[in-house]
Amino acid sequence: MKKKKLSLFLFIDAFGWEVKQRHPDFLKGLIVDSKPLETILGYSSACDPSIISGLTPSEHKLWSSYFYDPQNSPFKWTKPLGLLPNFIFNRGRVRGRMSRWVKKQCKFSGYFQLYAVPFKELLLFNYAEQKRIWEPGGLPRGESIFDRLSREGISYYAHNSDFSDEQRLESLRAHIEQQRIDFAYCSLGKLDGLMHAKGNDHPDIGNLMQWYDDQFRQLIAAAEQHYEEVSWYIFTDHGMHNVTDSYDLMSDIQSLELKWNSDYCAFYDSTMARFWFKNENARSKIFQCLENHPLGRILTEDELKQQGIFFEDGQYGELIFLMNSGTQIAPSFMGVKPCAGMHGFDPDDPDSKASISSNKPIPKTITKIQHIHSLMLQELDLS
Ligand SMILES: [Zn+2]
Repeated sequence: MKKKKLSLFLFIDAFGWEVKQRHPDFLKGLIVDSKPLETILGYSSACDPSIISGLTPSEHKLWSSYFYDPQNSPFKWTKPLGLLPNFIFNRGRVRGRMSRWVKKQCKFSGYFQLYAVPFKELLLFNYAEQKRIWEPGGLPRGESIFDRLSREGISYYAHNSDFSDEQRLESLRAHIEQQRIDFAYCSLGKLDGLMHAKGNDHPDIGNLMQWYDDQFRQLIAAAEQHYEEVSWYIFTDHGMHNVTDSYDLMSDIQSLELKWNSDYCAFYDSTMARFWFKNENARSKIFQCLENHPLGRILTEDELKQQGIFFEDGQYGELIFLMNSGTQIAPSFMGVKPCAGMHGFDPDDPDSKASISSNKPIPKTITKIQHIHSLMLQELDLS
């Protein structure tokens, strides 16, 4: 016997509106409505919590991964590792293994990567997403869809971040075939990884989209076989730019001859640099250096507020510098070398736009990624 209703929320990381336009055959004949969505300036660490809560980063308190907090750093115990030469840790595989080890030592359950943060600086920073956000109680502030699902006693599936896309889809399908769930949120990461490595228009992307197309058609067919009514939404948090240039912003700041951690501290993301100041001299020197910088701009308080990423206490930086679109900071604390593709540039760019597609008409009120939360509530008759 068929179960009554299933709502599927399928997330493909970096399946932006422009990427979708380049693959018009994806779920052709099944998609009834699709539209671009405004993203939030930052990375998945900012966007994903907003999608599942409807809140902005200023509200749920998760924006970038790392922030300056030497007093409460969970990484103080890594101090001896700072004495070892950096090249040991800069190899991808070593770094991956170290990330898993540090995550375990710090007892983090959330998404964690060491990226290329130098060990001798790591102990100055704290890490935002310490808890797994895909379960109740996952956000530092506010409530996510998973808090609500659990309170309402609705059975649901949420992906396991340790699994591959194949395993996630297989496990979701098993839940559907056993009619164990009424709601699913499944995040898939292969496309993001591929576009970081090869750029946003490489031929391999067509093959991967074909694979997703096959997988989703099978999944939807299985759902329709086991449920009377199936709603599905395929969406994302941001798009992907091709990287056209890289720039060593760290050298510009180092040439100012300010003292690290006694005059200022900085975190270099791939598209942003964030600064904390210990004195006014450092603040004005760095401000002057970046004010008329040809390769990026300082974000104003108004812009930060409008984006929902303004933090009164300067948690994620007292000054935020955003690179021009397409120019990646390299080396940065996120990677030594530039990637072929990167996101986290100006959210107004066409390549930054997110997307949503569905087998149902999408309400006009859904224009930003954080609105997906209200769509989930609506599907569950909880709005
Ligand atoms: Zn990415």
